Amino acid sequence: MDKNLLAQREKLSAHLIKHLNRRRMAASFVPTAEAAKAEVLHLVRSMDPKPTSIMRCGSESIGSLGLWTELAALPGVTFLDPYRADKTPAENADVRRRTLLADVMVSSTNALTMDGRLVNLDGTGNRVAAMIFGPLKVILVVGMNKVVADLDAAYARIRTVAAPANNIRIESLYPGVKNPCMEDGRCHQCASDTKICNIWTTIEGSSVKDRIHVVLVGEDMGF
Ligand code: SF4
Repeated sequence: MDKNLLAQREKLSAHLIKHLNRRRMAASFVPTAEAAKAEVLHLVRSMDPKPTSIMRCGSESIGSLGLWTELAALPGVTFLDPYRADKTPAENADVRRRTLLADVMVSSTNALTMDGRLVNLDGTGNRVAAMIFGPLKVILVVGMNKVVADLDAAYARIRTVAAPANNIRIESLYPGVKNPCMEDGRCHQCASDTKICNIWTTIEGSSVKDRIHVVLVGEDMGF
């Protein structure tokens, strides 16, 4: 990526880390997606006691890293994957419920405000539920393309970019899902039975200090 943009993001990361720390969340900066992968593995491997279960979520940012395979191969770890094609929808739904008690969650956020708030919009709510309560450690890999000025900008970013793009991403995975943004790339604030936009959350802080660790990534990641 452009070296000036990367330098700007690295300088900005100090401000974001300060605000995340003020909200009792840990944070670090890495320049590239590849370095983010190493940082996540380091954070998981250095947990004491060692984690025995890790939750898989549908994050595009994490999927693009190829991280799921490496996390699933960690010794002594049960990998809870509710996206298995060889399982029935009911079986995957059962795993999705059990992910709420996983030791580790690795995911991303839809937006991060300049003062350290994490803003998300979810379909079923399992992702945001686990971010809020359940897993002992929540590691969020956040490309700095997701940093926005404030809450209004976070809502706008999610409505205009993240949600329509996620709809288009899942179109091939779930052929039965038909939402208006899949046609024209715009959010219509629809009431579709299959909409993936049902639950807004804003994490203002963590009651358990450093339970959430935000890995800021200089490169763009996800949408
Ligand atoms: S609310 Fe409806 S139209 Fe808007 S992004 Fe979500 S599914 Fe698409």
